[in-house]
Amino acid sequence: MKKKWLLFGSVFFMVLLFTVIVVSSGQKNIPRDGETGGRPELIVTTIYPVYYFTKEIAGDKISVERLIRPGENIHSFTPTPGNMVTLTKAKMFISLGSTIEPWANKLANATNVKLLQLDRVLTLRKSAVHHHDEEEGGDGHEEHDEHGHHSENDPHIWLSFENNRKMIEVITRELSTLYPQYAKNFEENAASLLVRLYKLDDLYSRTLHGCGKKMILVGHDAFGYLEEAYHFRTESIAGAYENAAPNAARIARLTDLIKEHDLRILFYEPLDANKNAKQLAEDMNLTLEPLYAIGNLSSSDEKEGKDFIDLLQFDLTQLKKGLECQ
Ligand SMILES: [Zn+2]
Repeated sequence: MKKKWLLFGSVFFMVLLFTVIVVSSGQKNIPRDGETGGRPELIVTTIYPVYYFTKEIAGDKISVERLIRPGENIHSFTPTPGNMVTLTKAKMFISLGSTIEPWANKLANATNVKLLQLDRVLTLRKSAVHHHDEEEGGDGHEEHDEHGHHSENDPHIWLSFENNRKMIEVITRELSTLYPQYAKNFEENAASLLVRLYKLDDLYSRTLHGCGKKMILVGHDAFGYLEEAYHFRTESIAGAYENAAPNAARIARLTDLIKEHDLRILFYEPLDANKNAKQLAEDMNLTLEPLYAIGNLSSSDEKEGKDFIDLLQFDLTQLKKGLECQ
C-alpha cells in the first residue's frame, strides 16, 4: 500500500509539473474551444458498470469516458498521469464512493472536478472476509498485505438490481442538473435501461427458483449481492478483493464442501489469470466454467460489442447450470 502511495505521489508531482509548464508557457498548447469546434461535454467514470449506465443515460448528448480500461483488474487499479489529464477536462467524475474506490477521491481533490459518489445512495453488504485464513498466516497473509487494508464492504454493488436502479436514478438526476436542456432525453434513456434491467431481474427470480443445488463454487468472492437476492450460496477460493492462493485450512474446507454438496463445476472469472482455480480444478476433478463478476469487460468482449446486460444474461445461464435449475 505504501508503495502505491509513493507511486501516486510521484504521479501527482509529474502532473503538477506538467501543469506549471503549460500555464507558464502562455497556454499555447491548449486548444481553445473556438479552435476545436467546441470541446464535447465530458463525464468521466471509474469502472465499467458505472460507465455503461452513464453512457446509456447520456445517449448522444454528452461524451462519457472511463478510467479503468477494458481488461484491467478493478481491484488493483492504480491511477496514471493520463487519468488526471482526462479528469481536468471533465464536467463531473462518477465513482462508486470513498469506501470502495478511495483513490477516486484523491484524484477528484487533485483535479478539482465535481465528484459524484454513488455509495451514498446504496445499501452495501459486508463481504465475507476469510479472517480465519489470515490469522493462520501463509501465502494468503502476504498477498493481503500487498493489497493493503480494505473496508469490508462488498465492492461488487452492480450485481444488485436494487443498487443499479438507485445508481441509474441518481446519475440521471445529476446529469439533468448539469444539463437541464437534455433532462427529458436522460429520463427517457434511463427508463428504457431500467425496463431492460427489470426484465432481467424477473428472469433471474424465475430461473433461479426451485433449483437442485443451493451452492456453487467460485474463484473470486464477487456474487454476494446475487446470492442474497436469489437465495443461493457461493463458496470462493479467494476473498472479495484479492486472489490469494488458498492455504491448507481453506483447501480442507473446500474439499469438505465439494463432497457435501456434490459440486462438479468451478466457476472462474474470465478476466483473471486463474492460476489457483485451474490448479484446484485439476486436483479436485472439477470442470471449469466462466462466470463474469462484470466489474470490467475483456478487450475481446468489448470488440465483439458485448455489454453489461449480455454478460448478466450469460451469467444466468451459467448459474442455472451450476445450481441445476429446471
Ligand atoms: Zn471483484
